[in-house]
Amino acid sequence: MSIRVTVWGENVHEQKSAAVRAIYPDGMHTTIAAALNAAGGIHATTVTLQDPDHGLSDATLAATDVLIWWGHAAHGQVEDRIVDRVIDAVWSGMGAIFLHSAHFSKPFKRLMGSPCNLTWREAGERERLWLTSRNHPIAAGLPDHFELENEEMYGEPFGVPEPQDTVFVSWFQGGEVFRSGLTWKRGAGNVFYFRPGHETYPTYHDTNVQRVIANAVRWAHNPAARLANPSAAPNVPVETALEPITQRGAKLHAPGEEGMR
Ligand code: ZN
Repeated sequence: MSIRVTVWGENVHEQKSAAVRAIYPDGMHTTIAAALNAAGGIHATTVTLQDPDHGLSDATLAATDVLIWWGHAAHGQVEDRIVDRVIDAVWSGMGAIFLHSAHFSKPFKRLMGSPCNLTWREAGERERLWLTSRNHPIAAGLPDHFELENEEMYGEPFGVPEPQDTVFVSWFQGGEVFRSGLTWKRGAGNVFYFRPGHETYPTYHDTNVQRVIANAVRWAHNPAARLANPSAAPNVPVETALEPITQRGAKLHAPGEEGMR
């Protein structure tokens, strides 16, 4: 059975900028999904910010193995109730991949719990990505380094928690470096951030970039059943302790009482 991917596209600059539309006439999300559908073993569909519930109903998220997020101009328009839904799905086991300017998206910032800031420059400079984790599944089939002739620069320090794995670092023509492929585990969900993808350059048409994203989908996919309630914090009664114990000392909570939140 194919891995079910939902590509979430903000779909704002494609409407407003002729330069972006020239590169992505059907939207960046459509280009990303088409590459995934050609990769084998992946069934990708698209939703956008403008859809009802931003395209992310409970049913859609329940049927999504891996969510891909690209946003830039309208992070603030994403409703918090939808963000809550996405976070809950990740904690329950859904994979999530955040691309480029999604470093400032609401769900990524919530998952990281940190500023997620960086330095940047829009000068069409060359980016060279170096593989930093040989044999990592996200780097499968990729050379030790590859280049994107025109990209926006993102520079360190990148305000994210120390990752589980750093799969790529980028060098930019102007001299900066950046950790450009990072993994985390959040709840039961696998999370990957991949840096390239400024909307005025043809980055998502690049075969190496497409391969990274397809590899990341396979890595992020968790075939286990989704957790029913990832935030559950049950009170375990004395009588059900695995080894016999007796109640000692003062007691604040009534037996079986819900915990405080
Ligand atoms: Zn950008």
